[in-house]
Formats: sequence, structure tokens, C-alpha cells
Amino acid sequence: MKKEVENWSFQFGAFKITVLSDGAFPVSKEFFFADTPADLIAHIPDKFDAPLNFLLIDTGEKKVMVDAGFGEDYLPTRGRLLLCLQHEGISPEDIDTVIITHAHIDHIGGVSHQGVPVFPKANYVIREEEWAYWMNKPLSMEFGKLKTIKDQLMFVSSDFEIYPGIFLQHAPGHTDGHLTVSIQSEGERLLVSSDILNDPCTLQHLASHIAAEVAPVIGMQTRFSFLEEVSRQNVLLFVCHYPFQV
Ligand SMILES: [Zn+2]
Repeated sequence: MKKEVENWSFQFGAFKITVLSDGAFPVSKEFFFADTPADLIAHIPDKFDAPLNFLLIDTGEKKVMVDAGFGEDYLPTRGRLLLCLQHEGISPEDIDTVIITHAHIDHIGGVSHQGVPVFPKANYVIREEEWAYWMNKPLSMEFGKLKTIKDQLMFVSSDFEIYPGIFLQHAPGHTDGHLTVSIQSEGERLLVSSDILNDPCTLQHLASHIAAEVAPVIGMQTRFSFLEEVSRQNVLLFVCHYPFQV
């Protein structure tokens, strides 16, 4: 895996979008590909490094992160988002909003460091179900992380446009309050699936899921309707754990 920072930015309508690599994390094939036919994943080794990629959306007025990565505790192999931002000349104080697609540690570990929120001026947007789920797991790392940002949380309970052109959509299954993000500008549309998808090789087999998924049957329905939306509307798709510049 390359250690140097290599962001990839592109203009998307009126927005500038930057893909930030948080690094990669070691997983087993069994974990990453539950309920998956063996022949579909015969080329995947038993253990491998799963990519971690997250988006920064600059609307021109607001800087919005989609998730916060593992966090600096995990450097140097992951938790590199702040280095990526620094490379863009962006400091943590510049971030206005962090969308929490769901609260697994690879997506929220970076919200705080040693108990202190990393993005001091940001609001963190989370579904109410996601917060409720983790508040019932007081021994989890995720609970500890969410507690540190409780004063900066903004809860949503229905599909919601947080800024003009950035829509949050409830996509339950992977977790109760999992969100997908729809980014729309000047006639273009990009959908961020977050973790309802695991790897491109399983796109034809919707039962396949990451073993951390809490409700795989609901997850499968969510995958179906999400991918139907992707194909029907000819939109771009971004998936956090798909291979990209690692
Ligand atoms: Zn993940």
C-alpha cells in the first residue's frame, strides 16, 4: 500500500469533490463476503486489505465530509484522512459538516481523538436509529466515539437535504440508521452507497454483505432498490470500500 498522500479531485457540477484515502484495513474473506457463492470470490485471498475511501464535498460555501475514517489511533496504515485534508490545504476547523453514514468504527473513529472532537466547528449528521442502536451498546468503541461528539450531533429521522444538492437517504440493513448520500449539481448525480455494498464482484449477488451487517435481509432489499436507482437514472456510484488508489 502506498503511504504518501494521493487525493483525487474532480469538478462535479458546481461542487468540487475530493476522494480521500484513509488507508486500508485487514479483513478476512469470510468477514467481507458473507452469504457469497465461493466461485464469485475465488480470486480473493483469505485475508486482504480492504480499501477505505471517503469523500470531501466542497459546495463553494460549505465543506462536507462523508464519514471520518478510522482516526489517528490507527496510523500509519489507516486513519490518514487528516493528512489527506492537510494536503488540500484544509484544516479540521474548516469542515462544516460530517455526515455519518453509519457508526461503525472505520467510519467514525476519526470524529474524535483522545476524547476531543477532531472537527471543532462541524455538525455531525446522524440518523436517530443509528444513535439509538449504539447507545444500547455502552461497551463498544462506537459508543465511546459518539459520546465525544454528542453536543455537535444533528439528528435526522426522514430523508433530508442538508445543503442544496446534498440529500441523505435512509438505507437500513447494514445498520439500522445507515444512510446513503445523493449528490446533485447541474444535472449530474452521484450516489454514495457507503457499506451496503462490499466489492464490485458481488454486484450481481445482492445477498452478499459484510458480516457486520445487522439485518442482511433488509440489507438485500436496500441493495436492490439502491442499485435500481443507480441503473435507472444513469448516475455515478461511489463505494467506500471499493478499490481506489490504495
Ligand atoms: Zn465500512
